[in-house]
Amino acid sequence: MTTELGLIAKYFSRPAKRALLGVGDDCALLPGSSACTAISTDTLVEGIHFFADVDPKTLGHKALAVNLSDLAAMGATPRFFTLALTLPRVDDDWLSQFSAGLFALADQFQIELVGGDTTRGPLSITITVLGELKTDDALRRDGAKAGDDVWVSGRLGGAALALRQLLSQGTRAAIDTDLRTRLEAPQPRIALGKRLGALAHSAIDISDGLLADLNHVATRSSLGANIDWSSLPIHPALQSEALALRQMCALTGGDDYELCFTAATPQRDNITQLGEELGLPLTRIGTMTSGPIQVRVLDRAGDELKQSATGFDHFSRQF
Ligand code: ADP
Ligand code: MG
Repeated sequence: MTTELGLIAKYFSRPAKRALLGVGDDCALLPGSSACTAISTDTLVEGIHFFADVDPKTLGHKALAVNLSDLAAMGATPRFFTLALTLPRVDDDWLSQFSAGLFALADQFQIELVGGDTTRGPLSITITVLGELKTDDALRRDGAKAGDDVWVSGRLGGAALALRQLLSQGTRAAIDTDLRTRLEAPQPRIALGKRLGALAHSAIDISDGLLADLNHVATRSSLGANIDWSSLPIHPALQSEALALRQMCALTGGDDYELCFTAATPQRDNITQLGEELGLPLTRIGTMTSGPIQVRVLDRAGDELKQSATGFDHFSRQF
């Protein structure tokens, strides 16, 4: 079975020559004189990443938010972005709403649109973001150490639950506003990422599901990870749902755009304090282990919970 990562590894991964870090992380790192540049691209396609009737203002927000999330996962400060837009037709009302949503978020994070491309075709939005950081502060996926605590920001599973409800009910109005916001207007954790540069060893943003994304950190750091199911900060809307659905949404549901990061145990108090300062829950959910490269989820008794899927993949369609 060809997976998204398998395809990239087979055809498009070459060792970085001039880049400090090439294909395979949340951002690539390009050298600079005093700091380095983090760069990342993400595409949203109608029918795959969003419904055709999505509110254009929300879509403008989300298209930039998912890209900013990769800068957050690297610990970078947002600077510039480009926008490649493929539109089926010119719809002024749609464009003015879309650009309002896009620029509201751009202004919030002081990131500047500096170019792009506009073409006609099926609706798709590609944004490339550039950010700045000190090379030593980069939160690379290969930086985790055995014995590190695994942490996660915010609450998990809300976006996946909102998507399920949208698919089954077909109408946005029926869905709890907070839950819908989780799916349609995620908040990139930029402030957190920047502060983690000095505290954490590695980070990734949860775009494809906790298990799949933590597995990228484990693989690139050549470590295992044990997750304690009972410690996971599950979105409150999931509390009354069946265990299987809670597990599916929190462990393998994508689109939460929270940060999962690892840090040495002496940083516990600093990280807890940072969470309080930012008004964002930061929860310790497990440990990185030396041992086989795998992510295991354990119940209170220490027995492993078996998952049938790990997360979203465009080509193996596991979720
Ligand atoms: P993320 O979920 O953080 O956006 P992806 O899963 O989309 O990352 O991509 C994984 C890695 O592969 C990233 O480093 C990305 O830059 C790289 N990548 C994805 N597609 C390609 C491609 N077509 N050519 C080169 N690199 C790619
Ligand atoms: Mg990412």
